[in-house]
Amino acid sequence: MLPKSHLSVSQINTYIRCPLQYKYRYIDGLILPPKSALTKGKSVHKGVEYNYSQKIESHEDVKLSEVQEVVAAEFETLAPETEFEKDEDPGKVKDETISLATLYHKEVAPTVQPVAVEQKVEVEFENTPYSLLGYIDVLDDQGYIRDTKTASKSPSENEINKSLQLTAYAMAHRTLYGKEEAGVKLDYLVQTKTPKVVTLEGKRTQKDIERFLKTMGIVAHAIDNQIFYPNENNYLCGPEKCGYWEICHREY
Ligand code: SF4
Repeated sequence: MLPKSHLSVSQINTYIRCPLQYKYRYIDGLILPPKSALTKGKSVHKGVEYNYSQKIESHEDVKLSEVQEVVAAEFETLAPETEFEKDEDPGKVKDETISLATLYHKEVAPTVQPVAVEQKVEVEFENTPYSLLGYIDVLDDQGYIRDTKTASKSPSENEINKSLQLTAYAMAHRTLYGKEEAGVKLDYLVQTKTPKVVTLEGKRTQKDIERFLKTMGIVAHAIDNQIFYPNENNYLCGPEKCGYWEICHREY
């Protein structure tokens, strides 16, 4: 009954947040246009990936202007499909996106030597109809798994410990390389009046991985058994925040 033969952490997170939202998105295939925050994040990611992909060999960052061009082009590709808010100016969002990518390139990129970028990882589990599929953003030469986030406010210290995505990547890293990673890092680019970088660092234990696997197993079992119900007690539920609000309140 799984929609695909694999689960991603993003699917698991969606199910945990709201099982009915999961059904609309992944079973019924109702894909909503992305909000500007997602387009901003994806565009910045593209710039980071562009630079690091060549830096694995060259050990040099590309020119800032080159990254800015890549980010601007990605934003323009995604903008026509993006649902901007009524009071949002796409041009201003594009400028903000480029300024975040610039900040990353000046403050974070010079401190990172990548050894792998956007590495596809698929972990198979015995006796189950699913695998876990994901892409590790960056693995650096110090053995850290890194991910980049864009946000409108500073993250709390605990964000790094709560991230299921990083736990899944730590598990995948151990499967791929046969050893523990040095740690996990999240580079937050925060869109405050003066944009800033907040880097959070954490660790993953075997216990964290076991907890994640249990959660994944329960979510997969629930999806398999078509257990879908609305969870209105989540911060992304509301007529303005959830694109499925109408169908959810009409059908359920
Ligand atoms: S409106 Fe709320 S309960 Fe309904 S699908 Fe969206 S998040 Fe879930």
